[in-house]
Amino acid sequence: MMMKSYQISYKTKKQDIRFTGLTESKGGSIFYMFNNVPKCWICNSPADSREHKIKKADIIRVYGKGSSFHKKDLHYCRHDGQIVSLRGPDSKDIKFDRVICRKCNNERTQPFDRAYDAFIEHIESNRDLILRHRQIDFQNVYGNNWENLQLNLFRYFAKMLGCRIADFGEKVPMDLKNLLFSVPFKTMLWVCMAVNEDELKMPLADQTMLWTGNLITNKPRITYPKYAASCSYKWLFISFWYGWGPFGSVGSQWCADSQYLYLGTYTKASDKIILSNGSEWPGFL
Ligand SMILES: [Zn+2]
Repeated sequence: MMMKSYQISYKTKKQDIRFTGLTESKGGSIFYMFNNVPKCWICNSPADSREHKIKKADIIRVYGKGSSFHKKDLHYCRHDGQIVSLRGPDSKDIKFDRVICRKCNNERTQPFDRAYDAFIEHIESNRDLILRHRQIDFQNVYGNNWENLQLNLFRYFAKMLGCRIADFGEKVPMDLKNLLFSVPFKTMLWVCMAVNEDELKMPLADQTMLWTGNLITNKPRITYPKYAASCSYKWLFISFWYGWGPFGSVGSQWCADSQYLYLGTYTKASDKIILSNGSEWPGFL
């Protein structure tokens, strides 16, 4: 996984993520097209569905829906730097372009979404214990079926990264597609989780950050594409590493292969990392 030299790097537009609590970024406007019809990156059918960049269930859990959502008057920092007022948790501003088909989004990957929802519910109801131990035990999250369900959680993150890459206009690596529906699999993807210490310092009521970060990739390329991305649910910082990293104290490397996740420590300041070849990691924030 770790490679000796890195081509650092092209990164999508930098954002001030603390502006509104909800933010995103995106680097490209071309997406995976064939005969001018966007194709689902998973199954190659016409892409007629738009996946949420920030999960709808998370938005509702944190900000409510209907009148309760509107009372919050949420503003959202888009990839182009524009601040928009969110009309609801289904706003098109918080969805990817059409990079996936309805069947894949609503049916084939539903078990992955459910595994993620159960995971976040566990994080919410066991917050203090998790923060004290700085680890997550999948058996506590999922019970006896934890091996299968932590695999589905990993697939959820692979799906999110795949959508980000496709939304950026690039071809999603084959191993990310394959791992969604086959076992065993080989992949270059690691997922890491950390406590965002900056967020944790906020008053509890203000710990409401939902965030999807920049897609970081190596350009110009002399070798294979590498990607990194991140998202946050309140104080939980989740990073994705494809073909490089992880860099920094972002938590143990997880590849759907263990019962325990050991949480790292993440701060905006700790995002400044000099790599072994002397180049600076552009950072997630
Ligand atoms: Zn599909």
